[in-house]
Formats: sequence, C-alpha cells, structure tokens
Amino acid sequence: MSKPIVAIIGRPNVGKSTLFNALAGERISIVKDTPGITRDRIYADVTWLDTQFTLIDTGGIEPDTKNEMFAHMREQAEIAIDTADVIIFLVDVRQGLVDADSKVADMLRRSNKPIVLVVNKVDNFEKFMPDVYEFYNLGIGDPHPISASSKLGFGDMLDEVTKHFKNISNWDEEDERPRIAIIGKPNVGKSSIVNKLLGENRVIVSDIAGTTRDAIDTPIRRNKKEYILIDTAGLRRKSKIKEDIEHYSIVRTVAAVERADIAILVIDATEGVTEQDAKIAGIAHDRGKGIIIAVNKWDLIEKDSNTVNKFSANIKNVLSFIPYAEILFISAETGQRLNKLFDLIEVVIQNQNLRISTGVLNEIMAEATALQQPPSDKGKQLRLYYITQVAVKPPTFVIFVNDKKLMHFSYTRYIENKIREAFGFAGTSLKFFIRERK
Ligand code: GDP
Ligand code: GDP
Repeated sequence: MSKPIVAIIGRPNVGKSTLFNALAGERISIVKDTPGITRDRIYADVTWLDTQFTLIDTGGIEPDTKNEMFAHMREQAEIAIDTADVIIFLVDVRQGLVDADSKVADMLRRSNKPIVLVVNKVDNFEKFMPDVYEFYNLGIGDPHPISASSKLGFGDMLDEVTKHFKNISNWDEEDERPRIAIIGKPNVGKSSIVNKLLGENRVIVSDIAGTTRDAIDTPIRRNKKEYILIDTAGLRRKSKIKEDIEHYSIVRTVAAVERADIAILVIDATEGVTEQDAKIAGIAHDRGKGIIIAVNKWDLIEKDSNTVNKFSANIKNVLSFIPYAEILFISAETGQRLNKLFDLIEVVIQNQNLRISTGVLNEIMAEATALQQPPSDKGKQLRLYYITQVAVKPPTFVIFVNDKKLMHFSYTRYIENKIREAFGFAGTSLKFFIRERK
C-alpha cells in the first residue's frame, strides 16, 4: 500500500527543519545496515492518529543571496508539486508576509495540489493571532497557526493535512497493475530503458482520473500483461543550483519508490557499483519494496568467462544489505535481456505475495534452533516459541520469544536465512517483529 507524501516548503529560516524534526520525532526509520540516507532526514515516516504518511523536506541547501533565493524557492515548489500529494506551505509570523511568499503562493495556486498554509512561530496564540490573519492575503486558504519549536497547533494542522488524503489514494489502490519504479543515479540509462520499453510497447493511455502523477506514470504491456512504469528520469529538470541536484534526486526517488511495488535499481556497468547506488538502494530497502538490480550498458563491457561473477561479487559486497535482490545484466541500447527483466518482475511479485503456513514455518524454526542454539545472556537462554506470517508485500513474520532483549539481530538474520533457504523469496525483503510471550 502506498503512503501519501507530504512536502514542507517555505523560505529559509521559517522553521522547516524544526517542523520536520518535530513531526518525524524518533519514528525516523534507521535500519542498522542501511547506508547513510535515512539519517540525512530528507524524508521520514509520520503517524498521526491512525494515518501514516511520508514527510519530505524539499529545503535542500539554502542559498544566501537574495537573487538565488527565489530561484531556489521556485525549485522547491516545483519538486513539491511534482512529487507530493499535499503541500505544507510554511510562513513565519515574525517576519510577516513578504514578496517571495506571494510569488510562491501564485505557483502553488496554479498547481491544483492541496495546499495547507501554516504560519509558524506563533508561540503565543493570543498575542500573535492578529498577525496570522494577514496571510489570508496569499489567497490559498485559511492560515493555520503553529509553533514548531513548542509543538503547538499540530493537531489542527495535521487534521487539515490528512483530510486531503481521502481524495488521492483511491485509484492507486484500485489499480491492480504492478507499479515498477526505475531508479538510479543520473546517466546510468534510466530514460534509455524506459524509451526502449515504450518504443516497443506503448499503451495508449485512456483516461486516468486525477492528479499530475499521470504525467510520470506510463502504462506498458509486456508478455500480455500491463504494468505501470514510474519514471524518475522523466521528471528530471536541470537545477540551476548544483548542491540541490542530489537532494532533489533523492526526494524524487523517495516519491517514486513510495508508490511502487518493485524498484529496478539501475547501475552503470562502465562505472561499477558505488556508494551513491547504495544510498538509492537503501530507499527501496527501507520501504520494503521488491528490488531488482539491473546492470546496464552491458554492451560496452569486454567480457571473459569470469566477468559476470566478478561484477556480481562486487555488487553483493557494496550492496550487502540487500542480499535478496536479483542481479541482471542488460543493455538499453541493444535491448538485451529486457524480456528477462519482466520475467524477474513476475517472480518478485509472486514472492512478495507468498504466504507460508504457520505449521511449516514452525517446523523450519524448530529445525533451525536445534541446529544452532539460540543465544543466552547471564545464564538466561533465549527461547523461540512460535512464528507466524502476518502480512505480505513484504512478507512479514512475528516471532514470539521469552525475552526480546535476548533476540539478537544476528539470530533473527539466521532465522531469515533458514526461511529463505526453504522458500527463496528472491527480490523481496522480509520483515520480522519480535514479541514477548510469558
Ligand atoms: P528552516 O531554514 O526553514 O529549516 O528553519 P529552521 O527550522 O532552521 O528554523 C529557523 C530558526 O527559527 C531557528 O533558529 C529555530 O529555532 C527558529 N524557530 C523554528 N520554529 C520556531 C517557533 O515555533 N518559534 C520560534 N520562536 N522560533 C522558531
Ligand atoms: P538517465 O540519466 O539514467 O536517464 O540516463 P540516460 O538514459 O539519459 O543515459 C545516459 C547515457 O548513457 C546516454 O548517452 C545513453 O545513450 C547512454 N546509454 C544508456 N543505456 C545504454 C546502454 O545500454 N548502452 C550504451 N552503450 N549506452 C547507453
């Protein structure tokens, strides 16, 4: 199920980071063995009452000159319009209404995206309310006063934000076509892959109701089946501000991956696998999406009998946190193995939806614990009582134990490996929850 995306935009110093951090709280997912990116706080998972959404900070590196400032805000707003379902436009009651705010408001109004106007630094509602009303002049609806630093007004603001979700999620959920995001660094060949696929298989787009998402979602047919390609390359716009490029490409990747079932991580064979590839892979892994690694430009590589093995070993090493991902060597130029790519997509979809019976799971776990004793600490031995699968996409398991603290990360990994030995689950992550039962 894809979560709605909420973006915060606003001028430098209005309090975007403060608000982002206050909303993200400690819920930011830091997966132990996933490299860097989640810690950069570009995006976070937020839960409000019974609703979840992904929050992105489109702030990027903020410029210091006035001239650059407006260009920067423009870009922020464009990214938000492209990627978010709801936009929080944050302004500052202490600075009051300034010209740049009005210009951004004009852009937002034209976008037809739901906008929530939030006025920050209202630390004292009685004192500052008269100044809040001034922001009605922006013409984008009611201003909602908050204090990001004191966490005041969050309830009303979040009610307003989540109210808009009802209108957006429907067609995504009803559409049963698998959604495939093509992700990767610039120049690895994402557009070329999409173009090659579309050149051969374009589906005439009928009328999909709704949002600007349509612009980047392209239905294609392959082996008599339809898929939706979510193309991050197609969204690329040349940023005038160099530092923003990587930030924005991550924001776009998060948005694309969030709505996808499977991510195709494209790597450039002529460059080999890099840290930046690992960051991007981490986004898909954190979100529990299916992953296929496509090593592109394979036509440019001189090969001997060992080339594939060497490449694979290197990828497994740098991307060691996604050992389950399948690797495929392709060429957008020649079309080599693009059909195989779709065979793999089918396999991954099946694996994401695989359900293992509780009986079989417990047999595997019993065998595993007999083979390798669970760890103990200060004379207390870990006991695993029971395992059951509670969800698919990704397959999610709950293990009941006597003491959670004894269930070491590496032992969970060991159980995971045993389950994978039996069922493969290629291409999908598996999730484990550990619960105590006395
Ligand atoms: P950003 O540049 O938009 O990300 O803004 P920051 O989050 O870095 O905040 C800019 C400054 O405003 C910092 O000094 C914050 O401490 C301050 N600030 C943020 N929120 C509030 C607030 O609700 N009340 C007050 N008084 N100051 C705030
Ligand atoms: P993107 O930024 O990831 O969308 O990358 P592009 O699709 O724009 O490709 C970047 C460059 O690599 C272009 O010059 C492409 O022609 C070239 N390219 C992409 N795929 C292949 C491939 O499979 N083989 C070769 N030889 N060149 C490729």
